Amino acid sequence: MNTAKIELHIHLDGSLNIRWAYERSLSQGVIPPETSFQEYYDLLYGKNFAPRAVSIQKFQLVCDILQTREDLYDAAYELVKTLAGEGILYAEIRFASQQHTARGLTQYEALKAVIDGAKQAQNDNPPIRIGIINCLMHKGESASCNHEQNLETVFVTKELLGKGAVGLDLAGYENNCPLKDYAPYFEKARELGIPYTIHAGEMGIASHVKDAVDLGAQRIGHGINAVSDPVILEELIAKRIPLEVCVTSNIKSTLNYASHPVRELIRRGVFVTLNTDNRIFAKTNLFNEHAQLRMIGVTEDELMRCTYNAVDAAFCDDDTKKSLRAELRKDWNL
Ligand SMILES: [Zn+2]
Repeated sequence: MNTAKIELHIHLDGSLNIRWAYERSLSQGVIPPETSFQEYYDLLYGKNFAPRAVSIQKFQLVCDILQTREDLYDAAYELVKTLAGEGILYAEIRFASQQHTARGLTQYEALKAVIDGAKQAQNDNPPIRIGIINCLMHKGESASCNHEQNLETVFVTKELLGKGAVGLDLAGYENNCPLKDYAPYFEKARELGIPYTIHAGEMGIASHVKDAVDLGAQRIGHGINAVSDPVILEELIAKRIPLEVCVTSNIKSTLNYASHPVRELIRRGVFVTLNTDNRIFAKTNLFNEHAQLRMIGVTEDELMRCTYNAVDAAFCDDDTKKSLRAELRKDWNL
C-alpha cells in the first residue's frame, strides 16, 4: 500500500531537479563553464551535510539560479510535476521570497512566479493540489538584520493568501538568535489571519519547540528534539500541534534510522506528519520516507495515521480536506 500521499514540508530550493539545476547554473554563469555534471552533482550531494558552512554553500548554489520569474516558475512547475508523478495528492511547498530578489524581482513577484508555476503544473497533472508557504528568515545574530525583508514577507503573503499562498514559516538556522525575537512578525501574521508553522527543535534544543508553541505556531517544522522533554510533548499532544518530521533529512549527521526519535514520537501519541524537507540534499522522496520507516518497524496503521494527521494539519480549507480524506479512503479500500 502506498501511504505516501500528503507532504507538508518541502523546500523548493532544496528539491530541484538536479539536471535542470546544472543546466541553468551553466547558462547563468553560476558555476564555471568547465564544470561537469558529475562535479556539480558532487557539490550538492556531498556525503555529509555538516559542517554548517557547507550546507549554506549548497543552498546558495541553488538559490543563485532562482532569481528570475522564469526560473522560479519553471522550478515550481518541475517540482509539482514530479510530486504528481509520485502519486502525491496534496503538497505544501515552501520557499523564502526574500532570497530571490538579487536580480531585481520584488518579493511579491517572486512569490507570484512560484504560485503561477505550481498552479500550471497542478492543472496539467491532476489530481494533485498545492499550497505555497512563504518563509521568514533567521539570517544573523539578531532578528533586526533583515527586519524590513521579514516584514515584507508577511505582507506579500497576505496579498496572495487564498490565491496560492497558504501560510508562513520561519526558516534558516534556528540557533542564530532566540525565536522569541520574531514575535512581532507572528503577531502581525495572526492579526492578518495568516496560518504559520515554525522550524524549531531540529538543530536546536527542546525548549525551542516550546518557544514556537508560545509564538502561536499551528505546526512545528521538525520539532524532533522535543522528545527529550516530556512536558513539552504533553503540551504538543494536548494542543494537537503536529510535527513536520523529516527523517532522512535529519540522519545525515549523528542519527540513523534506528536512533531517530520518530518511532517514539508516534508511539507517545504526538501528531507526527512525514515529509522530505530537501529532496536533493536528503536524496529522498516521500515514498522512500515511508519505505524506510517500514524497515524500522513503523506499522501500516501508524503510517496511515501520519498521512491523516497531515490532512488534518494542512493549511487548506475544509472542503479540500474532506475530498483528500475521501480519496485516501478510496485508495486504501477503507
Ligand atoms: Zn525545513
